[in-house]
Amino acid sequence: MSKGTIGVTTENIFPVIKKFLYSDHEIFLRELVSNAVDATQKIKNLQSFGEFKGELGELKVTVTVDKEAGTLTVSDRGIGMTADDVEKYINQIAFSGAEEFLEKYKDTANSIIGHFGLGFYSAFMVAKKVEINSLSWKEGAEPVRWSCDGSPEYTMEKGDRNDRGTDIILHIDEESKEFLEQARIDTLLKKYCRFLPVPVVSGFEQEWKDGKMTDTDRVKIINNTEPQWTKKPSELTDEDYRNFYHELYPGQDDPLFWIHLNVDYPFTLTGILFFPKIKNNIEVTKNRIQLYCNQVYVTDSVEGVVPEFMMLMQGVIDSPDIPLNVSRSYLQSDTAVKKISGYITKKVAQRLEDIFKTDRADYEKKWDDIKIFIEYGMLTDQKFADSAMKFVLLKDSEGKYFTPEEYKTLVEASQTDKDGDIIYLYATDPTAQYSYIKAAADRGYSVLVMDGQLDSHFVGLLESKLEKTRFVRVDSDVIDNLIRRDNKRDVELTPLQRNILTTAFRSQVPEVEKADFLVSFEALNATDHPIVITQNEYMRRMKDMAAMQPGMNFYADLPDSYNLVVNTEHTLVKKVRDAAQEAIGAQVQPIAESIEKSNAEITALRDSAKESADAETDRKISDLEKTVAENREAEEKIIRTYAAGQPLLKQLIDLALLGNGLLRGQALSDFISRSVSLL
Ligand code: ADP
Repeated sequence: MSKGTIGVTTENIFPVIKKFLYSDHEIFLRELVSNAVDATQKIKNLQSFGEFKGELGELKVTVTVDKEAGTLTVSDRGIGMTADDVEKYINQIAFSGAEEFLEKYKDTANSIIGHFGLGFYSAFMVAKKVEINSLSWKEGAEPVRWSCDGSPEYTMEKGDRNDRGTDIILHIDEESKEFLEQARIDTLLKKYCRFLPVPVVSGFEQEWKDGKMTDTDRVKIINNTEPQWTKKPSELTDEDYRNFYHELYPGQDDPLFWIHLNVDYPFTLTGILFFPKIKNNIEVTKNRIQLYCNQVYVTDSVEGVVPEFMMLMQGVIDSPDIPLNVSRSYLQSDTAVKKISGYITKKVAQRLEDIFKTDRADYEKKWDDIKIFIEYGMLTDQKFADSAMKFVLLKDSEGKYFTPEEYKTLVEASQTDKDGDIIYLYATDPTAQYSYIKAAADRGYSVLVMDGQLDSHFVGLLESKLEKTRFVRVDSDVIDNLIRRDNKRDVELTPLQRNILTTAFRSQVPEVEKADFLVSFEALNATDHPIVITQNEYMRRMKDMAAMQPGMNFYADLPDSYNLVVNTEHTLVKKVRDAAQEAIGAQVQPIAESIEKSNAEITALRDSAKESADAETDRKISDLEKTVAENREAEEKIIRTYAAGQPLLKQLIDLALLGNGLLRGQALSDFISRSVSLL
């Protein structure tokens, strides 16, 4: 028996292992089982190179819990270790360079964790004593037993293993008793070892017997040693992919698409990514992409490894180039990882383009479901946005799909305005905006449906990508103004008529919560609606954005501002106009003239006051202003009183409000009774 002290630097590292890795103690099992798997793969390789000529035997890794003895043992039939190997791999090199490293990073525990493959020594996170009992594959090798109680001292002696391989025996410490529960070990093995390439066996299959679950004599195999991503795409059917998806995420709907990743240069990476059918956000955060390193589970915190938008995707990425024990910040700054992210983006774009080209009908069928991935990708990743212009789709109000280029060809001729901008009309709620869509369709215009969660942002992105193109919501103005042409008709109203009608209409708009109305006049077609309610595109976009971004409450809190556009060509409006002039024109006219006269005097006085200001002028101005205010009030009163007695006028306003879902409560019930009496 010999004694020794591990390395020179391990005195420093043991407290680090114990302390800083506290939250991640469970990874010791991953480390030990992967070592066992590595040793097993090595013996297979040695055999295939002809160096090892003996029997391989049944190659598996066994994890055994012995509650009574307080031990957890990981056994393999791998290459084993000689005393020299233990000296070299366990005693000496374990933390070579650790001292220097510790010195440099002593304040940042995370980067220590991030940098070390703790490997074998992570066993000390949960064990007060660790033993190795091993027999090397080498001819004439002697079994070796190594033992260490966590202090840097170890003992080495002749071991008693008589078949090739290694047992790692952990004497679990008081605080870590949980790892003596078979159920806990099962959970961990399922998490980290589910797809390891060598069978991992632990405990026994259970059976229902005499009213309770009882162990059978069949050993329980934890893993699927040949997960689909390790196979060639040509060997797999759609069914295989779907089955694999369900193996990964039980209880989900079938995935929409999948992408099989397979590269060996400039880095090695395999994997399968799925586009899930997203039903709610909870699933998105629960079932995430899993990262593997040679079939060993690493993490499902893939931020930084895959592009942000792919956080919505699911599946597996396996790369030996992804460091095993790494902190997230380390992952994100790793150049290999950055390349991986760029590569995945490119691959996903290529595959989508492929699917789009080979089976457009199927792609269109799934579009509404994958739209969110693609828009999110385009909004967050410039490169992806560029490639996606080939396969992103726009849907029109009839449910037809177009690429941006196809759509441009479709509308270019009919929807270019006088400045040469192509106007893309869109609706965000086809049901609520039905009458606007219809009005546009009647003109031969096409209307896009932009009702997705991200569409308000996406519209902005498209505008920046498509030259001389503007997106205009179909209800943001009257139809003639949506796409402005040169030949606009003038509104034919005398100043008196305009004056009376403005006040008459404004005074009769019912109170609508959080909404302001501005009356304006347009000479639309006689066949268009008498009153159209529109909402300013800019203000609406600001409010939409504000709703999605905290800190923009200023916009969010503003009332919605609508335009009440009165169509002066409509016969009913003409009727209202003439009746009003007839009834109150003679009364309003002199007041309006007086207001005009006073205003002219005020302007003149102000001009003279610019040269020499005096108290007398100021007094005159303020008297005149008072007269104007009084006159306005009188005028307003006459018009308001008159308008209040005009059911037709009210009816026109209410009809327009109704068409926009703005007529509610008392106003709606007034409308109904008025309609009945008008009939
Ligand atoms: P790493 O696996 O990253 O090299 P470890 O600390 O986990 O670091 O292991 C150090 C070395 O000990 C391994 O490289 C291997 O040579 C040897 N070793 C560990 N476990 C086993 C095992 N079960 N069988 C054979 N060799 C092993």
